Amino acid sequence: MLELRAITAGYDRRTPVVRDVSLTVEPGEAVGLLGPSGCGKSTLARVAALLHRPDSGTLILDGTPVRHWRHRAPRELRTACGVVFQQPRLSADPRLRLDDLIAEPLRATGRRTEAPGRVAELAATVGLTPDLLSRRPHEVSDGQLQRACLARALVLRPRRLICDEMTSMLDASTAAALVAVVEDYRRTTGAGLLAVGHDRTLLRRWCDRTVHWDDLARGGGPIPRV
Ligand code: ADP
Ligand code: ADP
Repeated sequence: MLELRAITAGYDRRTPVVRDVSLTVEPGEAVGLLGPSGCGKSTLARVAALLHRPDSGTLILDGTPVRHWRHRAPRELRTACGVVFQQPRLSADPRLRLDDLIAEPLRATGRRTEAPGRVAELAATVGLTPDLLSRRPHEVSDGQLQRACLARALVLRPRRLICDEMTSMLDASTAAALVAVVEDYRRTTGAGLLAVGHDRTLLRRWCDRTVHWDDLARGGGPIPRV
């Protein structure tokens, strides 16, 4: 359902940070990607989340190669993937109330009318009270904001979820609560998960399979143009 084939990516073409990496997530599978800080995991996660165009290699979704990249992939493709990052404050518009933050992808895809129902449902799922929903990011804790970011990632019911160090900034109980939400979502929808992190114990508990950055497959056949 998600295949990264011979991906090379970075921020300047002469010195890519991801070199010729291949990785596959099967339908319903949770794959953990482990590796030291700075090795390139987030960059690969952003490619998998359709947010960063690779320099070469192919991203294949449900058997179909992604084409027509600009700096990101087209919005129709991006919305089929939910993403949660490590630092909720960097991915949340500071002006938005949490309920509007959760509803953002619905608005962006012309489904605004579904917002009240979906937001209420997801707030209950991730453990946000109505009082918190009317606050803005600077009025809530990192943990509360990350709960909202997870709700936003799930609001369009994506078939793929990418969690990049989702729990690294959180206390143990919030971390466990958010992992449980993702687990439950996967069990009920059969969505695939790519979870990126540096904590082996945590990822092993969470995922069907964990791969270390150094053991990722290199190559993957001829490199098609992207
Ligand atoms: P990890 O997630 O494994 O910590 P990253 O993918 O975040 O690794 O970073 C890999 C390398 O790319 C690092 O050397 C980092 O400094 C660099 N890098 C990350 N983001 C950017 C960026 N926006 N511009 C330039 N270099 C970046
Ligand atoms: P634009 O192309 O106008 O930047 P997008 O189509 O990327 O907007 O999405 C609209 C808004 O919804 C973005 O600001 C983004 O924060 C949010 N969003 C969309 N999809 C997701 C997702 N899967 N996970 C988290 N936030 C998302």
